[in-house]
Amino acid sequence: MIALVDCNNFYVSCERVFNPRLEGKPVGILSNNDGCIIARSEEIKKLGVAMGTPYFKIPDLIKRHNIQILSSNYALYGSMSRRVMQVLGRFTPTMEVYSIDECFLDLSGFSQNLSAFGNMIAKTVNQGTGIPVSIGIGPTKTLAKLANKLAKKGIAGKGQVLDWTTLKNVNAILEQFPVNDVWGISSGWGTRLTKLGIANTLALKQADPKWVKQHFGVVLERIVREINGTPCIPLELIAPPRKQILTSRSFGERLTELDDLRAAVSVFSARSAEKLRRLNLCTQSICVFIHTSPFDLTKPGYNNAVTITFDKPSDDSGKLIQCALTGLERIYKPGYRYQRAGVLLPELLPAGVRQLSLFSDEPEENLKPGRRMATIDGINRRYGRHTIRYASDKLSQKWQMRQNQKSQAYTTDWAALPIVKVV
Ligand SMILES: [Mg+2]
Repeated sequence: MIALVDCNNFYVSCERVFNPRLEGKPVGILSNNDGCIIARSEEIKKLGVAMGTPYFKIPDLIKRHNIQILSSNYALYGSMSRRVMQVLGRFTPTMEVYSIDECFLDLSGFSQNLSAFGNMIAKTVNQGTGIPVSIGIGPTKTLAKLANKLAKKGIAGKGQVLDWTTLKNVNAILEQFPVNDVWGISSGWGTRLTKLGIANTLALKQADPKWVKQHFGVVLERIVREINGTPCIPLELIAPPRKQILTSRSFGERLTELDDLRAAVSVFSARSAEKLRRLNLCTQSICVFIHTSPFDLTKPGYNNAVTITFDKPSDDSGKLIQCALTGLERIYKPGYRYQRAGVLLPELLPAGVRQLSLFSDEPEENLKPGRRMATIDGINRRYGRHTIRYASDKLSQKWQMRQNQKSQAYTTDWAALPIVKVV
């Protein structure tokens, strides 16, 4: 048996843990640069605010209903996610972290009442982190997902835990469940299935797997078998190795000056290098790109990218910044209003297997930047992320994202810890 644990309204729930005043109120979280609403509380959903609604379009509604709007705070959500997963890890060692707020748990071999066990998991997560979760349990990943959706809809009655195998009227429920809502089914497949007379999940369950394989391929065939209770999609217990690292942002305002872009590219390069070192990887090349807004048709548009290859693989922030800035200068053209820039590390290698340069007569030079970087990382870990940084970061602040309503990094920054006053 497999459980899918899904955090309820995850971003909003993270904010509520540290700001209980948001409890019971309609809350919306904005995308980068405070553009659109990308996470919603139940209360704001009930007001009819759709996913992706542009923030600037609903000022009256916000005022009328006292809607609480926040910028996204990914440092907080990432850290809360790690806490939730840590608590879940106490219940079974066999788990797949599926996304920032979802996790599959392997419950095979657990003989007790799984609904009760699920309730205990949900209670423990809530107690330990403050995050409410829903849990769907089933014999396959697809059915665990489905049970989770039903639990959220309140099919299970009270509580947020549903064990698929305890349901009596399975076929009647599947008949009400649109194929589009089944895990792994794209809207394209949904439309095609509906045209072929398979509009609900019961019809899909009863479809001939061989016919499905012939017309849609092996992926949908597996889904059909999973709906019928045969496990075909295994848990991915080991995350696949990272193929590339991308660090890119839209700017808070359009940029025209080279120095503004330099600052942005410098920060992106340094962050990418930090990530490399954390993952114990290095890179053979760095790609820099800049572009104007693709939607701004009234102004001339421009986009370009360049890849710089190193003589030997590196994870050194200084080296990455230096090469990225050289690349930037090659592609930068004055007279444009730039909207976005980014840095991509397209080919990653394990840090241990770096090839030394043929022309270097001093192999030890390879080790020195490693020690320097480890020291900088150590200091930044201990005293805060920006304690030591490259001067090029400071050329300009103009590129920073608009995040006017961001809460504090309560769990990742000593200076932002919530303060309790006893009077
Ligand atoms: Mg969720």
